[in-house]
Amino acid sequence: MIFSGTLLTEGGDGLGEERGAFRVTPKGLVRVGEGLEPDRVGFALPGFVDSHAHIGIGSSGPSTREEQEAQILAQRAAGVLAMRDCGSPVDTGWIDERPDLPRLKRAGRHIARPKRYMRSLPVDLDDPHDLPAEAARQAAAGDGWVKLVGDWIDRSMGADADLAPLWDRRILIDAVAAVHDLGAKVAVHAFARETIDDLLEAGVDDIEHASGMDEDQAHEIAARGVLVTPTLLQIELFADFAEQAGPKYPVYGRRMLRMFEERHERFAMMRDAGVRLVMGTDSGGYQEHGTIGAEFAMWEAEGVPREELLYIASIRSRADLGFGAPYEGGDLIVFAEDPRTPPVLGAPDAVVLRGELC
Ligand SMILES: [Zn+2]
Repeated sequence: MIFSGTLLTEGGDGLGEERGAFRVTPKGLVRVGEGLEPDRVGFALPGFVDSHAHIGIGSSGPSTREEQEAQILAQRAAGVLAMRDCGSPVDTGWIDERPDLPRLKRAGRHIARPKRYMRSLPVDLDDPHDLPAEAARQAAAGDGWVKLVGDWIDRSMGADADLAPLWDRRILIDAVAAVHDLGAKVAVHAFARETIDDLLEAGVDDIEHASGMDEDQAHEIAARGVLVTPTLLQIELFADFAEQAGPKYPVYGRRMLRMFEERHERFAMMRDAGVRLVMGTDSGGYQEHGTIGAEFAMWEAEGVPREELLYIASIRSRADLGFGAPYEGGDLIVFAEDPRTPPVLGAPDAVVLRGELC
C-alpha cells in the first residue's frame, strides 16, 4: 500500500510532520519515490488509541462473538486502531488472529468484591485477601494490564450508602507488587476522592475516571507519572446516576451530582496540574463502541486544542500504553482534509492495518 501526502509524526511533545510518499508494510513505513501511483493521498495519523474500552461487553452484559466483531469494527471505522481493553468477561483471543482488526491490550477481567460492581462482569472475591493472587492470575491472562474496581456504591449501608473503596491499602500494596513482579501494570476504576490516596501509596500505574480527584492528588499523580483516563462521556452520565439513586440512596446521589457539577473545573485542574491524560470512551455497557469522535468533541469543548488532542489520542497514547512508535506495525488512518484544522473531526477516509487497506 502506498500513501502519499502529509504524515503526522512525533514532533517532540506535539505533532510534527513529514511530506512524501511512503510504502506501508507490516514492518512500518518506507519512503519511496514520488513516481509510484499512491493508493491513498491526504493526511495520515498512526490511528487513535482508545485507552478504556470493553470488547465483549454490550448493553445487556457479556457479548456474543458476533457482537464482539460488530463492536471492534465500529471502533475501527472511527479510526481506533489500538485499544486497551479495560476488563472483559469473555475470551476475545480470536481477534488477534484477524489482521484486519485493531490491536488489543487486555486487562483480563475486572476484579471486584461481591455486589460491588456491575453484575456478571467481574471476578468477585469473597475474601479481599485473595486480591494479590487474583491480580497475578489476571496479569498472566492479559496483555500487560490488570483492572481493579477501586470503589463502588456500598448498598449494604442502606440509606447511608455511598461510594466506598473496595480494598484496604495493605492489600492493594501487595496486589500491585504482585502484578509488577510479572511485568504488568495496574489500572483502577476510581470515582471517589478518598479512593485515590491508597492507590498512589500502592503504586498503581493508571487511574480511570478520577471524577473525585482533588488538586493535591492531581499534583502527586502528575509527579509520579500515573496515567489518568478522564472518560468525559461517562462522567456526563453522572447526573442521570444521581437521579436514579433517588430517595433510596440520597448520600450517593448527592455525591454523583456534585462530581457532575464540578466536572469542567476538575478537568481544567487536572490539565493545569500536569496530569498525564489518555483518552478513553468506556465503550461497552453505557457507551456505544466507536464513539471516540464524541469524546474528542467533549475534550474540545473543554478547550483542548485540536493538535494537542490528535497528539494525545494517537502518538502519545501509543507510547504510554505500550503500542510502540508511530506507524510501527504498518497501521495508519488517512483523512482527505487536514485533521488539524477544525471543524468536526469525522471518521477517517481510509484505514490501514498491518500494511493493508481495510
Ligand atoms: Zn469501563
